[in-house]
Amino acid sequence: MGLQIFKGNIIFAPAPGELKICARSHIVVKDGIVEGIYERLPEEYGKEPVKDYGERLILPGFVDLHVHASQLYQCGLGLDRELIDWLNDYTFYVESRFSDPAYAREAYSLFADELVRQGTVRACIFATIHKESTGLLFEILQEKGIGAFVGKVNMDRNCPDFLQEETEVSIKETEELIARYGRHPLVKPILTPRFAPACSGELLKAIGDLAKKYNLPVQSHLSENPREVEWVRELFPSHPTYSDVYLDFGLFGRYAPALMAHGIYLTDRELDLIKANDVMLVHCPESNINLASGIMPVRKWLNRGIRVGLGSDVGASHNLAMSKAIVRAVQLSKLLKIFSPRHEKPLTIAEAFYMATKGGGSFFGKVGSFEKGYSFDAVIVEDDPRIAGGLSLEEQFQRFLYTGDANNIIACFVAGRQLGLRCD
Ligand SMILES: [Zn+2]
Repeated sequence: MGLQIFKGNIIFAPAPGELKICARSHIVVKDGIVEGIYERLPEEYGKEPVKDYGERLILPGFVDLHVHASQLYQCGLGLDRELIDWLNDYTFYVESRFSDPAYAREAYSLFADELVRQGTVRACIFATIHKESTGLLFEILQEKGIGAFVGKVNMDRNCPDFLQEETEVSIKETEELIARYGRHPLVKPILTPRFAPACSGELLKAIGDLAKKYNLPVQSHLSENPREVEWVRELFPSHPTYSDVYLDFGLFGRYAPALMAHGIYLTDRELDLIKANDVMLVHCPESNINLASGIMPVRKWLNRGIRVGLGSDVGASHNLAMSKAIVRAVQLSKLLKIFSPRHEKPLTIAEAFYMATKGGGSFFGKVGSFEKGYSFDAVIVEDDPRIAGGLSLEEQFQRFLYTGDANNIIACFVAGRQLGLRCD
């Protein structure tokens, strides 16, 4: 790939709440890795070609830490239900269609295209229980150039017959996918027990054994809804908390990093376990409102030193755009403050942007920032010059997050490689 130089208005968040704004600057990239940002290009690069994006913004590409690829088609459906009814009445039927590889190929291709269109360049993705169609998802993402962790879902109880796996088959097929897709540099397997209620202790233990054997990360759901938390208590009576179930089976950061979506209703003990095991929580604000699940007290968790990223959680969220997740996270933290004034100060837009770039990107390594040594993952954003022309760069950035959409994104890069999108 060699040397690439891009020019434009560069904005990124090197620390929570801190925006670095480099007007009309150059970003030098070597073999997909950021070498440096320069207002004036050093002499050694003087003869190199520069891709000049003019007045457009160059932002880190978005990182979605929790999304269900199979659920894109159900966005906006059945959202007058809460979690468990929504799963039973809608989601499981939608996921059953992925037993058909032809259907999966079409749906997953559309999902990958839509990720890129929305500027999401890295994602942690739930597929379904189906081995063949999950394999197709790996291949489609590889072809597209998106960075991802992809998980075949495991579940062997408390789901309809047509999605219920035999425990041994679930493990065998998971292992086959690891063997087949475990070596790609950008699209990697992640262990994906759906959530504790849908998995027997035997299955959770076997998944924990895979985490140990292959040193593989884990993603699942944790404490999203009060009824779910109560259900886990009934199903695992010998475990003091929901988090203890995952911990006990080696799925809570013991062997490799773990991602837990939602994490709304957590006890002090669980927060300590999360911190001690460096488990990353994924805040999915839009999904949490749609299913009336609750509001994660993000500031409180951050103040306890817990890492929190952002997820779209499509299809419980009706929106794949991480810009919308950023705005919704800020809005929900304001609602907490409004209804409970003792809550600490709401998130700022720069803090939520950090969560969707460098914060979430840390799950992938040096991703989500333009500091030296980071992967050049970027989105190029343009706005109507009649409006943007009168605004500061920080205002243009805010305006894109609040009012922009996929039409404002004209190019996306992962590790220096431009992904298929309309040309500028
Ligand atoms: Zn989810």
